[in-house]
Amino acid sequence: MTRRAASELQRIGVLGAGTMGAGIALTALNAGHAVALADSSAEALARANEYLKNHLVGRGKPEALERLSLNQDLQALTGSGVVIEAATEDLELKRALFAQLDLICPPPSILASNTSTLSITAIAAATRSPSRIAGMHFFNPAPVMQLVEVGRGAGTSQETVNALVQLAESWGKTPVVTQDTPGFIVNRVARPFYGEALRLAGEGTAAPAQIDLLLTQAGGFRMGPFELMDLIGLDVNLSATISMYESSYGEPRYRPHSLQRQLVEAGKLGRKSGEGFYKYAEGEKQWVPPEIPGRSQRSGFVLLSDGSWGPDVGRQLVQAGYTLSETHGDLPLAALVVNGSEEGVRDVLRRYDRGLGPEIPVLCQTVDIAFSEVKAGAQQPARIIGFDGLFFAAGNAVTLVAAEGMSEKVRQATEDLVRSLGKLPIWVRESPGMILPRVVCCLINEAAFAVGEGVAEAQAVDIAMQLGVNYPKGPLTWGKELGYNKVVTVLEHLRLEFGGERYRTAPLLRRWARGMTL
Ligand code: NAD
Repeated sequence: MTRRAASELQRIGVLGAGTMGAGIALTALNAGHAVALADSSAEALARANEYLKNHLVGRGKPEALERLSLNQDLQALTGSGVVIEAATEDLELKRALFAQLDLICPPPSILASNTSTLSITAIAAATRSPSRIAGMHFFNPAPVMQLVEVGRGAGTSQETVNALVQLAESWGKTPVVTQDTPGFIVNRVARPFYGEALRLAGEGTAAPAQIDLLLTQAGGFRMGPFELMDLIGLDVNLSATISMYESSYGEPRYRPHSLQRQLVEAGKLGRKSGEGFYKYAEGEKQWVPPEIPGRSQRSGFVLLSDGSWGPDVGRQLVQAGYTLSETHGDLPLAALVVNGSEEGVRDVLRRYDRGLGPEIPVLCQTVDIAFSEVKAGAQQPARIIGFDGLFFAAGNAVTLVAAEGMSEKVRQATEDLVRSLGKLPIWVRESPGMILPRVVCCLINEAAFAVGEGVAEAQAVDIAMQLGVNYPKGPLTWGKELGYNKVVTVLEHLRLEFGGERYRTAPLLRRWARGMTL
């Protein structure tokens, strides 16, 4: 799109001058628009003015301030081509504001809400012209974050959607169109990132810091769920979850967790209160993560079964100097690593377990087989180690599960092998799907539910999760890479273990697993 002269651009109204309103106003001013910013609070306007001055003067654009007007009276929004409402998240308040905007800014003006969780359709019902009402959901900080979700209410016209998509694009943003459903794309599909992490911690499978380490170091997420909840504010995150849960009439996938509620009740809200899942002093996290070990060369041989749960395991062992073979010659045996299918694991144990010395660790993938089941099939269960075969090769940390009575020698030998690959060994308790497969497969499942229910196109969901919350991959592409059949297997094991509807597989995911493509 060619850049038009500022004078030709429509005037933008922004209603609400808080965190988001100020950020949206800055984005519009940066794009050359005249902006009318309105808020009922004089303090909020003064703070927004300070923020806008700092940014515009600081970036050498003081003249942009001439295009800004600050107002306590809503009437000042008259003449705006588009009004973006970013007032407090309260349905009755927004309905009252839209009823007024309907009169102050008659058609063809477009009225958009930045709501994160409320229904666009319910807001539009307070006006006489729902066709020009839509969601325009920015992410914080609005001037920086690329994504804008354009939410289509039940009565929103295609012209309104097109106009907002074009406006977002002209601001250098990437818009995605979503139906008016709770949480739109991002706030819905991201739910399992927090929800499964809270469940893992609540069950005692792993500590929050371990889960954060695995998701960042092995999963490639920029922040772990617990540090992210601390940053967002536990209260804010909890109320988003409650809102999803209530607006879906109690969908078990969105059920809030008592671990989070308890912290909120205790006033531990995260960074802003000095403590959440972590402690903070002067805004800094009082927890130092362990160092990722450097790669080192080893000699020794490793018995490796077929790698159907992660073909790169063998390659990485060879890079670290190990020899993979069935016969060892003169080399000492370092470990038996079994990363095959469920049947493969049983078969390898039958063939080799009895003949190996008790100090040799036997590492078995326990993503789709219960660790206790593998142990039960072993001659020497105390030296069986479960590991996450699905994400073993992916990053700098490996999830491990130890059997009761594991000797120090077996622990050392296992850690030595993992560290020599440049990875951090992280010991957790047994859980179906372990840590990363469980969180990631639930994200993929949620994304598939959203696409199946027509919330948005698959590609839009992937783009939204990468740009809105910085996920390393779009969940649907990620599912394709991991193998939809494996994702379904993990979900089925979770459902078998925990029962109930929380882990049911999205019908679309099941279809993809049967060979349908994206
Ligand atoms: P905020 O509390 O920082 O700002 C809300 C502003 O609305 C305040 O300045 C308040 O004075 C003003 N307001 C309240 N009642 C008003 C009225 N009757 N008339 C005019 N102004 C009024 O909140 P925020 O974080 O900027 O969120 C605003 C909206 O954006 C909410 O709908 C929220 O869900 C959504 N949102 C927030 C984020 C985020 O990360 N903070 C991200 C995306 C969307």
